[in-house]
Amino acid sequence: MTFRSFSREALAGSITLGLVFVVGYVFGKKKSSRMSISKSHSGKDKILEYILSNSMREHPVLKKLRLMTMEDRHSGMMVACEQSQFMVNLVKLIKAKKAIEIGVYTGYNTLNMALGLPEDGVLVACDISETYTNMGKPFWKEAGVENKIDLRLQPASKTLDDLLADGQAETFDFIFIDADKVNICSYYEQSLSLLRKGGIIALDNVLWGGSVLNPAPDDKDAVALDTLNKKLHKDVRINLSMLPVGDGLTLAFKL
Ligand code: SAM
Ligand code: CA
Repeated sequence: MTFRSFSREALAGSITLGLVFVVGYVFGKKKSSRMSISKSHSGKDKILEYILSNSMREHPVLKKLRLMTMEDRHSGMMVACEQSQFMVNLVKLIKAKKAIEIGVYTGYNTLNMALGLPEDGVLVACDISETYTNMGKPFWKEAGVENKIDLRLQPASKTLDDLLADGQAETFDFIFIDADKVNICSYYEQSLSLLRKGGIIALDNVLWGGSVLNPAPDDKDAVALDTLNKKLHKDVRINLSMLPVGDGLTLAFKL
């Protein structure tokens, strides 16, 4: 992950930090130094505070995993909790049984999705980092859903190819793409092949902190995301919505 990409994740993550402050405050958590970040966006934080205090329903183990992740120096990569809850509601809405997450980190969203899947559901979790994923594994176990999580530690493109070679094309219900951004267009194509009709692909960070508005030619991540956004706009294989949630979330509904 490049410094540039991390900085964009960190930008989205700063919103999460604000959210953590609010949740921590609401639930009586001891203040940490990170909470001061929220003060610099006070207008936005008021809205986030309202959203969180009136909508978050976080499983206790999920909350523990989030708070543990906040102690990691890369915590800006973690998905916003209200975005994760939204995606899990979609998973439940379409009665998903088979899902994929491309980019796990400590597995906050992985755990949330696994909790939302039925007992016989499966989530293929793709990452290259044993260090990050090992941080989340004990929480997956504590929540009693580790049996639903099929963690594959190798480049995600290889895992997606393996699934296709294994005859699993058009069998997945929900796929969340949130790994290295330079490969996002190929992850999208592989995911579309693996997705059933009526299934949903969620693509994270599609606004890239605003850099997609006028991407610098040498900003490979911003260029890749802008290319993706323009490609999906014209893609007749899907219906789509681009939402200003977190750092931008596109939902692609396979026709
Ligand atoms: N979805 C996570 C969450 O909800 O908290 C955040 C994922 S984080 C933004 C991106 C992850 O992608 C990192 O854990 C990184 O190790 C992983 N990653 C980077 N390049 C990858 C690749 N080529 N294949 C699979 N995973 C990759
Ligand atoms: Ca992300």
